Amino acid sequence: DQNLYSALRAAFPSDLDGIAIETDSGLNYSWRDLERASAMLASLLASLEIPPGSRVAVQTDKSVEALALYLATLRAGFVYLPLNTAYQRAELEYFIDNAEPAVFVCTGAAFPWLSKLAFQRGVAHVFTLEDDRTGTLLERASHFSDRHEPVPRRADDLAAILYTSGTTGRSKGAMLSHGNLLSNALVLKDFWDWRPGDVLIHALPIFHVHGLFVAIHGALLNGSCMLWLGRFDPKAVVERLPRATVFMGVPTLYVRLLQESGLTREACAGMRLFISGSAPLLIETFRDWQTRTGHTILERYGMSETVMLTSNPCRPEAGERVGGTVGPALPGVGVRVVDDTGVRLPAGEIGQVQVRGPNVFAGYWRLPGKTAEEFTTDADGQRWFRTGDVGRFDPKGYLTIVGRSKDLVITGGYNVYPAEVEGFLNELPGVAESAVIGVPHPDFGEAVVAIVIARPGATPDPDELIASLKSRIAGFKVPKRILIAPDLPRNTMGKVQKNLLREWHRGVLA
Ligand code: ATP
Ligand code: MG
Repeated sequence: DQNLYSALRAAFPSDLDGIAIETDSGLNYSWRDLERASAMLASLLASLEIPPGSRVAVQTDKSVEALALYLATLRAGFVYLPLNTAYQRAELEYFIDNAEPAVFVCTGAAFPWLSKLAFQRGVAHVFTLEDDRTGTLLERASHFSDRHEPVPRRADDLAAILYTSGTTGRSKGAMLSHGNLLSNALVLKDFWDWRPGDVLIHALPIFHVHGLFVAIHGALLNGSCMLWLGRFDPKAVVERLPRATVFMGVPTLYVRLLQESGLTREACAGMRLFISGSAPLLIETFRDWQTRTGHTILERYGMSETVMLTSNPCRPEAGERVGGTVGPALPGVGVRVVDDTGVRLPAGEIGQVQVRGPNVFAGYWRLPGKTAEEFTTDADGQRWFRTGDVGRFDPKGYLTIVGRSKDLVITGGYNVYPAEVEGFLNELPGVAESAVIGVPHPDFGEAVVAIVIARPGATPDPDELIASLKSRIAGFKVPKRILIAPDLPRNTMGKVQKNLLREWHRGVLA
């Protein structure tokens, strides 16, 4: 049996009464609680007489019960479909039409309109779940047995449909199998050196690959306790550091933690590992973190379609963690950089990132055309996924992501990689952060424009910034215009929404 739940369950400690999760509202969940709650929910799901492979869509606030629902869905052999809590009516209509879930679990506040919308679209069962252990889902589940035998699954049976973040366009549902998720979790357990006594601070949302798969599978597969935060709160994280060993965050969380005076070497003395991903970590954050805490953040790279792909080393003997890179390919994962014709490029050259491995998804849910476009098969039959990211390897095999192919700016026939220009801009005095985009230009087709966020108290002069850049990089890469802004538009995972920036600034050079 390849059911992912069975593998996670097998890793629970033998003392099921130990604490598996301690929440910020002061509740302790034992391993037995997780086992029983997920059994009852699985029994409830099984009683609904929905066909195998049915989708269980979930848009609720973060709670341990929502985690138990995820485990229950795996146990019962259905397909988990988590949804970002920020999604509103129009987005939910799309997801429900596209995924046709049999079950939808939402908050009580959304129930009046969402249940109507769901019923109209053929969803048979709508339940509510609050983050205070109330709602119809748990009421119903309380009548069911707390014993449940996991439904046997094959490695290629679907476990989850994870919609991508929608950073570059409409979200696509990545179909992930039990085998995809388990193989990656096992590789990470070893590569990140999970060990007895590890304690994870869980401060991420659980509708995304980072918080749901990387963090939760990591802790459960190691039988490790989680210190659980309903939402990210920098003070609450700092308070918990002395009792924890592992923290995972998106770059914005690290930036906010650095603003806490309590973030000191002493507070971090017992920590083993800080991991960052989901968006590029600024080299400055990487360095500031080293100075403040004495710890070197481990940056890794992955995506909804593939879970984790590359990682900076964890064990010292495996090599050093290099800021600005996402490290070498994980064991068993193939990562290559190719040119536009598919030819593999040597170290140092920039090209398309393609990947393969047991962690790579089967395809996009109900988008066969898109799936066919994003996979390419070599002459020897190997199937590679086009990540849509652009990168380069260094001679030691460390990958640097220099942007997304959709964000590439082509100006007067020259390719400009936004991340490269941003890197130079961010090093200039007065600049905290920047975003480089292409906007329509009458002569060049597209022209490079930068949006710059100033450091607190600084007032960088756009003309001076442009002049400084001209002495550092080729003229065609230098922004034609620099706009100073108070902040950058980001989604919940801290990703800069360049599509919005392009829309807002499309007229600046026209
Ligand atoms: P969509 O595919 O809908 O446009 P998305 O790609 O942002 O959205 P996710 O699957 O959540 O959706 O994010 C994966 C992407 O996040 C990667 O393709 C990559 O561009 C980016 N990413 C993840 N980790 C890193 C990292 N450490 N450094 C730079 N980029 C990263
Ligand atoms: Mg993507």
